Amino acid sequence: MPQTADAPSRTSTSARFDALVRDLIEPLADEVDRTGRFPRDGVRALADAGVLGLLGAPSHGGGGGNLRQAAAVVERLAGVCGSTAMVLLMHYAAATVIEAHGPDDVRRAIADGRHLSTLAFSEHGSRSHFWAPAGTAAADGPDTVLLDAHKSWVTSAGEADSYVWSSRPVRADGPMTLWLVPGGSAGLDVGGDYDGFGLRGNASSPVTAKGVSVPVTARLGADGEGLTTALELVLPCFLVLSAAFSLGVTQALLDLTARHLRTTRLDHLGQTLAEQPVARRHYAELRLRADTVRAFLDGTLAALDAGGGTATLRVLQVKALAGETAAEVADGAMRLCGGSAFRRGMGVERRFRDALATRVMAPTTEALHDFCGRTGLGLPLFEGAR
Ligand SMILES: Cc1cc2nc3c(=O)[nH]c(=O)nc-3n(C[C@H](O)[C@H](O)[C@H](O)COP(=O)(O)OP(=O)(O)OC[C@H]3O[C@@H](n4cnc5c(N)ncnc54)[C@H](O)[C@@H]3O)c2cc1C
Repeated sequence: MPQTADAPSRTSTSARFDALVRDLIEPLADEVDRTGRFPRDGVRALADAGVLGLLGAPSHGGGGGNLRQAAAVVERLAGVCGSTAMVLLMHYAAATVIEAHGPDDVRRAIADGRHLSTLAFSEHGSRSHFWAPAGTAAADGPDTVLLDAHKSWVTSAGEADSYVWSSRPVRADGPMTLWLVPGGSAGLDVGGDYDGFGLRGNASSPVTAKGVSVPVTARLGADGEGLTTALELVLPCFLVLSAAFSLGVTQALLDLTARHLRTTRLDHLGQTLAEQPVARRHYAELRLRADTVRAFLDGTLAALDAGGGTATLRVLQVKALAGETAAEVADGAMRLCGGSAFRRGMGVERRFRDALATRVMAPTTEALHDFCGRTGLGLPLFEGAR
């Protein structure tokens, strides 16, 4: 993401965040969806407001924020512009690894809002099984490594300043090694514009690497330790923020639905739709599902704060619950708002499309159910990464 010439000093106040969501990101959201254009203006404004650096350590200029704060940011954005929210979600997930294992200059650049990152895990060969990359990292002399891979989906492809990139190890045992790959590296090829069903502005294109040369120092953590890093650092962040994303979309759908029910009339009966018992009950059922997710997400964040055994299970459960709930509420909102929701102008069909994304994002709902079953039954998460 290009740096602004006169970036204002970072004052990451919630008032500034609220203002830029209201005045910039929300007004552009329909156009981003219609045209599939990457929301550069919004992301740049978030960067200038310190939002990209929220999770960075204060020692490196970061905001020193926590996952709860990041979840609130992602939830708010998701209800307004799903594409912008997903770009930020992926950036936060990548930034957790850079914060732990990356170079100081990149950490400072993220903190200053000069660096957007993302995850490049999913591959054509192993698909949503992110734990089993087929892409390779081959030694090219003592100091350099050549990366080859077919990444199937990368949010902010061609827009990000770096990719947190998974490969098979160079020499070590183990399923995965992680790298910090600069966005402009020679040999990286972004496979065309993203033309998706939902999150249409998030530039989720395939990315191919053919002999991409990176220094050995671009490795994030030890050779072969990438899956451990992914599970310990990326997964909690990604799963919690995905749940917050789903909740934001769900809440927006319910707000739009409530407004429709309250303001739309059946003139021959002299009633609003809200005065119809069947519509009321259906709305109440959807609302109950959304509120269940909110309580569960709060509980998950509390479990993470407290540490201990239940946190792992809650983190695995929360994305599955929130993602499936978003899809069900979106379907319910489309039904409740009837033909009106089929028109783009109302905003329900955009959120319907956005709501369906997280359940197929890895780990998918099916994978999470398996992980939850394994955790609950005392089995290892993976029987060796295959
Ligand atoms: C909008 C969007 C943005 C994305 N951004 C990124 C990104 O930034 N970085 C990144 O790395 N990836 C990203 N992805 C990719 C995502 O994480 C998944 O890898 C991808 O959506 C999986 O699609 P697929 O067709 O390969 O699924 P497949 O792996 O073919 O799965 C298809 C279906 O089969 C199910 N399934 C698969 N294996 C099993 C099994 N063993 N048992 C039961 N069911 C199974 C899955 O749950 C899924 O429902 C993104 C995806 C989307 C949609």
